[in-house]
Amino acid sequence: MTGKESRNNYEKARKIDLLKKTAITSLIGIGLTFNVAYANEDASLETVYHVYVDGEHIGTIDNKEPITSYIDEQIAAKEKENDAYSYAAKQDISYVPERVFHPNTKNKEVLQTLEDELTLEVEAYQMKIGDNAVGSFKDKATAEQALRQYKAKYVDEEVLEQLEQLSSEEQDNENDSNKKDLQVGDSATLDVTLSKEVTYHENKVPEDKVLTADEGEEVLEKGALEDKVHEVQEGEVLGSIASKYNLDMAQLLELNPSIEEDTVLQIGQELHVTAYAPFVNVIVKKEEVVEEEIAYEKEVQESEDMYKGDSKVTQEGADGTKEVHYSLELVNGQVKEKEVLSEKVTKEPVKEIVVKGTKVVPSRGSGDMAWPAVGGYISSDMGSRWGSYHKGIDIAGPSNRAILAADNGTVVSAGYTNGGYGNKIVINHNNGYQTTYAHLASISVSVGQTVTKGSEIGVMGDTGRSTGIHLHFEVHKNGELVNPEDLL
Ligand SMILES: [Zn+2]
Repeated sequence: MTGKESRNNYEKARKIDLLKKTAITSLIGIGLTFNVAYANEDASLETVYHVYVDGEHIGTIDNKEPITSYIDEQIAAKEKENDAYSYAAKQDISYVPERVFHPNTKNKEVLQTLEDELTLEVEAYQMKIGDNAVGSFKDKATAEQALRQYKAKYVDEEVLEQLEQLSSEEQDNENDSNKKDLQVGDSATLDVTLSKEVTYHENKVPEDKVLTADEGEEVLEKGALEDKVHEVQEGEVLGSIASKYNLDMAQLLELNPSIEEDTVLQIGQELHVTAYAPFVNVIVKKEEVVEEEIAYEKEVQESEDMYKGDSKVTQEGADGTKEVHYSLELVNGQVKEKEVLSEKVTKEPVKEIVVKGTKVVPSRGSGDMAWPAVGGYISSDMGSRWGSYHKGIDIAGPSNRAILAADNGTVVSAGYTNGGYGNKIVINHNNGYQTTYAHLASISVSVGQTVTKGSEIGVMGDTGRSTGIHLHFEVHKNGELVNPEDLL
């Protein structure tokens, strides 16, 4: 080589060097390598590699092999130790070549640096729902299994599988083929969808961040933390609000920079809190056929042939049945929409018919008795008394002494009697009841007279065997003594 040639070459090399400096700058971090087109132009130029770890220059080498081998060995060893995962370097390692005259390489030091810094992570698949990252799984199948398990909370797993097959095989006539002839008690799930889009992305994570399908299902069930606004209610303090949302005081204060631990809260004041909300809603569309009762109607007919207050069922009511075909939409297991598609009556209900009497007879009691005095109190109950039997009740202490008919009726006896009753009235109410009023001072009705409920029939007194002014009152039903206290 002549001196002139040598100088030309030198100048050429300098130019290339300048060019490449610019190129390297733009290549950093991209990890590209390129072959130098001038490789054989001059034997005195050597190729070196600038090694970058996550964009940071750690040194220059003239042989990549020891480094790539080291990384490969580490990965192989790790995968041998745990064959469930595929591993890769966490760091982005790139080699940028350069042709130089006087290489100044540090192969050993670079390898040493890498040995110190290299971290291996699992090559995983991250599941994202909308903008929320759920977690990373060793492969897409595991991630999908976690999602399937989550859906299975709301849909039978067999049904899910059938639907997945259906949608892949017969997407076009999916509805027709799945709409079977439903019988009572049957239900058919037509569609299971999610409220948000689920996507999978390759990523690298430390081993302890890789989720199994079961763990993924748990994360999905727990939901994602979302910001919420809490409106302060009466009686609430910061501590109670924090514990309501599973926050500690520091977290609550961090979410609300404008308040401090001793701030007095106002009712209606809004605080920022966080709470778990589902990552995604599982929407299930289904149809079902159920049997339902049809309640019978009641009809009241009036009859003048029966006394007012009397009634009679002339036709017993009976519930009917119907088959109802529903279309349902459930969101996370809760029915959000329910629509009747069709209805078929399988048994007609039978109407209940009640006949009510309208006939009014002034001498006939309503069956509902009134207090036979004006105020007063029961001074003696019906029952055993002084070795004999007291056949009625005694009423004493009225506001005035008028004696009143307990119900409509006909006077069948009125006058003084021996045997202790003194002045006595007996009224037949013409409905099975008869009432007796005794010890009266005077009587203002006569036998055969029709009396109306509440009308005055005499005055309270103490005639006959009596120990003071009072009314002795008896009630008989079809000839049998009954306790007036059960009727008044
Ligand atoms: Zn008495």
